[in-house]
Amino acid sequence: MSVVVGTVLLVVAVIFFVLQPMLSGRRASLHREMDEPTEAESRQRFALLALRDVEYDHATGKLDEVDYRVLRGELAAEALTALERVNSEAAARLSGAPSGLEDEIARLRSGLRSGTTCAACGSGNDEGSSFCAYCGAPLRAAAGGPSSHGSPSGTA
Ligand SMILES: [Zn+2]
Repeated sequence: MSVVVGTVLLVVAVIFFVLQPMLSGRRASLHREMDEPTEAESRQRFALLALRDVEYDHATGKLDEVDYRVLRGELAAEALTALERVNSEAAARLSGAPSGLEDEIARLRSGLRSGTTCAACGSGNDEGSSFCAYCGAPLRAAAGGPSSHGSPSGTA
Protein backbone atom coordinates (compact mmCIF):
# COMPACT_ATOMS: atom_id res chain seq x y z
CA MET A 1 0.00 0.00 0.00
CA SER A 2 2.75 2.45 0.92
CA VAL A 3 4.47 1.54 -2.33
CA VAL A 4 1.41 2.73 -4.27
CA VAL A 5 1.28 5.98 -2.33
CA GLY A 6 5.00 6.50 -2.90
CA THR A 7 4.65 5.85 -6.62
CA VAL A 8 1.74 8.27 -6.90
CA LEU A 9 3.70 10.96 -5.05
CA LEU A 10 6.68 10.39 -7.31
CA VAL A 11 4.53 10.64 -10.45
CA VAL A 12 2.93 13.86 -9.18
CA ALA A 13 6.35 15.30 -8.39
CA VAL A 14 7.66 14.44 -11.86
CA ILE A 15 4.58 15.92 -13.55
CA PHE A 16 4.94 19.10 -11.51
CA PHE A 17 8.64 19.32 -12.35
CA VAL A 18 7.93 18.94 -16.07
CA LEU A 19 5.09 21.46 -16.09
CA GLN A 20 6.81 23.99 -13.84
CA PRO A 21 8.14 26.29 -16.61
CA MET A 22 4.62 26.48 -18.08
CA LEU A 23 2.99 27.12 -14.72
CA SER A 24 5.44 29.86 -13.76
CA GLY A 25 4.69 31.64 -17.03
CA ARG A 26 8.23 31.78 -18.31
CA ARG A 27 8.51 31.70 -22.05
CA ALA A 28 11.17 32.29 -24.65
CA SER A 29 10.80 35.28 -26.91
CA LEU A 30 9.76 34.45 -30.45
CA HIS A 31 11.09 37.73 -31.81
CA ARG A 32 14.66 37.96 -32.96
CA GLU A 33 14.56 41.32 -34.67
CA MET A 34 18.12 42.29 -33.74
CA ASP A 35 19.52 39.09 -35.25
CA GLU A 36 17.43 39.21 -38.39
CA PRO A 37 19.67 39.49 -41.45
CA THR A 38 19.26 42.48 -43.72
CA GLU A 39 18.62 42.02 -47.43
CA ALA A 40 22.31 42.52 -48.23
CA GLU A 41 23.31 40.00 -45.59
CA SER A 42 20.88 37.42 -47.01
CA ARG A 43 22.21 38.00 -50.51
CA GLN A 44 25.79 37.63 -49.34
CA ARG A 45 24.94 34.42 -47.52
CA PHE A 46 23.09 33.05 -50.55
CA ALA A 47 26.01 33.84 -52.85
CA LEU A 48 28.52 32.23 -50.52
CA LEU A 49 26.40 29.08 -50.20
CA ALA A 50 26.01 28.88 -53.98
CA LEU A 51 29.76 29.39 -54.34
CA ARG A 52 30.36 26.48 -51.99
CA ASP A 53 28.00 24.28 -54.05
CA VAL A 54 29.81 25.23 -57.25
CA GLU A 55 33.16 24.33 -55.67
CA TYR A 56 31.71 21.02 -54.54
CA ASP A 57 30.22 20.22 -57.95
CA HIS A 58 33.52 21.05 -59.61
CA ALA A 59 35.48 18.93 -57.15
CA THR A 60 33.20 15.93 -57.71
CA GLY A 61 33.38 16.33 -61.49
CA LYS A 62 29.73 17.31 -62.03
CA LEU A 63 30.71 20.71 -63.42
CA ASP A 64 33.10 21.19 -66.32
CA GLU A 65 35.94 23.69 -66.20
CA VAL A 66 34.29 26.39 -68.36
CA ASP A 67 30.99 26.42 -66.46
CA TYR A 68 32.91 26.33 -63.19
CA ARG A 69 34.94 29.43 -64.05
CA VAL A 70 31.90 31.39 -65.27
CA LEU A 71 29.73 30.52 -62.29
CA ARG A 72 32.54 31.06 -59.82
CA GLY A 73 33.29 34.53 -61.23
CA GLU A 74 29.64 35.56 -61.14
CA LEU A 75 29.03 34.31 -57.62
CA ALA A 76 32.24 35.78 -56.26
CA ALA A 77 31.30 39.18 -57.72
CA GLU A 78 27.81 38.86 -56.24
CA ALA A 79 29.20 37.98 -52.82
CA LEU A 80 31.67 40.88 -52.95
CA THR A 81 28.95 43.38 -53.93
CA ALA A 82 26.74 42.14 -51.11
CA LEU A 83 29.65 42.29 -48.67
CA GLU A 84 30.35 45.91 -49.60
CA ARG A 85 26.65 46.70 -49.09
CA VAL A 86 26.70 44.99 -45.68
CA ASN A 87 29.78 46.97 -44.65
CA SER A 88 28.39 50.32 -45.79
CA GLU A 89 25.08 49.61 -44.02
CA ALA A 90 26.95 48.77 -40.81
CA ALA A 91 29.03 51.95 -41.14
CA ALA A 92 25.88 54.03 -41.69
CA ARG A 93 24.30 52.51 -38.58
CA LEU A 94 27.41 53.27 -36.52
CA SER A 95 27.77 56.85 -37.74
CA GLY A 96 24.04 57.42 -37.21
CA ALA A 97 24.25 56.97 -33.44
CA PRO A 98 26.61 59.83 -32.55
CA SER A 99 24.67 62.33 -34.66
CA GLY A 100 21.50 61.48 -32.68
CA LEU A 101 23.53 62.05 -29.53
CA GLU A 102 24.70 65.42 -30.85
CA ASP A 103 21.08 66.41 -31.49
CA GLU A 104 20.15 65.42 -27.95
CA ILE A 105 23.01 67.50 -26.50
CA ALA A 106 22.09 70.50 -28.66
CA ARG A 107 18.46 70.22 -27.52
CA LEU A 108 19.52 70.10 -23.84
CA ARG A 109 21.87 73.06 -24.31
CA SER A 110 19.22 75.25 -25.91
CA GLY A 111 16.78 74.21 -23.19
CA LEU A 112 19.25 75.20 -20.50
CA ARG A 113 19.86 78.54 -22.21
CA SER A 114 16.16 79.32 -22.49
CA GLY A 115 15.51 78.11 -18.95
CA THR A 116 13.12 75.25 -19.75
CA THR A 117 15.61 72.46 -19.01
CA CYS A 118 16.09 71.74 -15.31
CA ALA A 119 19.69 72.28 -14.22
CA ALA A 120 19.20 69.81 -11.36
CA CYS A 121 17.80 66.76 -13.18
CA GLY A 122 18.05 67.66 -16.86
CA SER A 123 14.34 67.21 -17.62
CA GLY A 124 12.67 69.42 -20.19
CA ASN A 125 9.81 71.62 -19.03
CA ASP A 126 7.17 73.74 -20.72
CA GLU A 127 8.09 77.25 -21.66
CA GLY A 128 7.38 79.77 -18.87
CA SER A 129 7.56 77.20 -16.04
CA SER A 130 9.00 78.45 -12.77
CA PHE A 131 9.68 75.04 -11.24
CA CYS A 132 10.74 71.69 -12.68
CA ALA A 133 7.75 69.40 -13.17
CA TYR A 134 9.90 66.35 -12.43
CA CYS A 135 12.03 67.23 -9.40
CA GLY A 136 10.55 70.55 -8.23
CA ALA A 137 13.78 72.51 -8.42
CA PRO A 138 13.36 76.18 -9.32
CA LEU A 139 14.11 76.80 -12.98
CA ARG A 140 16.69 79.45 -13.73
CA ALA A 141 14.99 82.54 -15.14
CA ALA A 142 15.98 82.94 -18.75
CA ALA A 143 19.03 85.17 -18.97
CA GLY A 144 18.97 85.45 -22.74
CA GLY A 145 15.82 83.64 -23.80
CA PRO A 146 14.94 84.15 -27.44
CA SER A 147 11.15 84.49 -27.20
CA SER A 148 9.99 84.27 -23.57
CA HIS A 149 11.62 87.32 -22.06
CA GLY A 150 10.73 86.64 -18.39
CA SER A 151 7.20 87.95 -17.80
CA PRO A 152 5.75 86.10 -14.79
CA SER A 153 2.60 88.23 -14.71
CA GLY A 154 0.10 85.53 -15.64
CA THR A 155 0.75 83.17 -12.73
CA ALA A 156 -2.74 82.18 -11.48
ZN1 LIG B 1 14.33 68.82 -12.40
